Amino acid sequence: MSEIRVRIAPSPSGYLHVGTARTAVYNWLFAQKHKGKFVLRIEDTDEARSSNEMVKGIIDSLLWLGLKWDEGPFYQSQRMPLYQKSAQTLLENKKAYFCYCTPEELQTKREEAQKKKIAWKYDRKCYFLSQDDKQNLESKKVPKAIRLLVPEGKTSFHDLVYRDLEKENRNIEDLILLRSDGRPTYNLACVVDDLEMKISHVIRGNDHLPNTFKQILIYQALGEKPPAFAHLPLILGMDRAKISKRFDAVSVTDYRDQGFLPEAVINFLSLLGWSPKDNQEVLSVAELIEKFSLENVHQANPVFDIQKLEWMNGEYIKAQPDEKLLGLVKKFWIEASLVTDEDFSKKKAWLLKIVGILKERCKKLTDFVDLGKFFFTSEFEYEEKALGKQFKNSEVVARLTKLKEKFQGLDGFDKAKSEELVRNLATDLNVKPAELIHPLRLAITGMSFGPSLFEIVELLGKEEVVKRLEKAVNFIHNKLGT
Ligand code: GLU
Repeated sequence: MSEIRVRIAPSPSGYLHVGTARTAVYNWLFAQKHKGKFVLRIEDTDEARSSNEMVKGIIDSLLWLGLKWDEGPFYQSQRMPLYQKSAQTLLENKKAYFCYCTPEELQTKREEAQKKKIAWKYDRKCYFLSQDDKQNLESKKVPKAIRLLVPEGKTSFHDLVYRDLEKENRNIEDLILLRSDGRPTYNLACVVDDLEMKISHVIRGNDHLPNTFKQILIYQALGEKPPAFAHLPLILGMDRAKISKRFDAVSVTDYRDQGFLPEAVINFLSLLGWSPKDNQEVLSVAELIEKFSLENVHQANPVFDIQKLEWMNGEYIKAQPDEKLLGLVKKFWIEASLVTDEDFSKKKAWLLKIVGILKERCKKLTDFVDLGKFFFTSEFEYEEKALGKQFKNSEVVARLTKLKEKFQGLDGFDKAKSEELVRNLATDLNVKPAELIHPLRLAITGMSFGPSLFEIVELLGKEEVVKRLEKAVNFIHNKLGT
């Protein structure tokens, strides 16, 4: 096989959407697998809708995912003469023609057709203009676009995912290649660039299938051989509708900011439309590269299941060594003002232990903030539901007060000793250990669930545990009005 060259060609009219990110993952995996090249092309010919901020967002997202490109970024806005030259060649070879129709004229015709309920396609008015009419329009300097002259017949191609596809050319209109202001349309710029960049495989969403027929016609008009095509099934939301901006987090940077790990996102995206033969679900990047193949891309539209992404992210979090995880969590804890940079050097061993006991329960890095906040501050609210159950009467006050006294007198404040203390006290008070354990957890963490209680006790230390028990006792007194 000649060199594999693929590309991702985002339009910077938005951030990197999960659909484009999935396309980027598939292109990148395919390039890695075949030791080919992955090209980044920014399709920014629509200046009004493109912005540098969006380009930066796209580049940051690709880098965060680890999808490093081998060539580019190439900007279509800097390549205008290339497209204009190709359009000119097509004109000269009579494969294209000037169109002087105004947008208003075209709109009126479209509306008339709509009223009559007939599908509208450009009527080739300008193709049939007489020489005199053309000269007249030229002398008036009427703006003109360039349209492709779609030949008669059929257009067919073999898609690597959707197999043999065919369309009657009479259902394809003479598409505009170059607008009257000299800007190319997406289809022309895409073909010219894919040719010039020697792209061997165009891998993109199946929403581009109608464009592919048009693009093949452009290749043919230019006398060139089209690349191979693989169209990817569309990603659906949980409601089975096409995933769109309605979703809160559809930009890759949102996932980063919510505390997803890039390896988990890559793994998850790679399974949106593809699966390895053995149906393994958690796959490292190296395994993905080894197992990925376009032949195994599904035709059916996959559903974007956020819970699955969270589960997968949790698996990746659990598998991280504590040291590495602490580095990842750092930013989130600092942003939430729970710790300072200084703490990271002074209390590193303590922070490592916290990360270590929390990681089993965290699905996202932000969970380390929500579930771990109590380690850093006693300014938390007690969980509403647990309050009624655990802090309900003066008996609890008595038990927590006793616990506080016992903890105060404890020598060597570690998890084994504090567990022994709680169990002994339960025997002395003739209650089940759970009747001490649950209110104790609520008092020192504000929550009814979490990691091992005695590990928490040890990590908080005697002074803090005693202080929190005191606080809880006062709180219950207030609540009961005693
Ligand atoms: N700019 C197009 C898009 O973002 C590229 C499509 C293609 O890969 O050809 O959908």
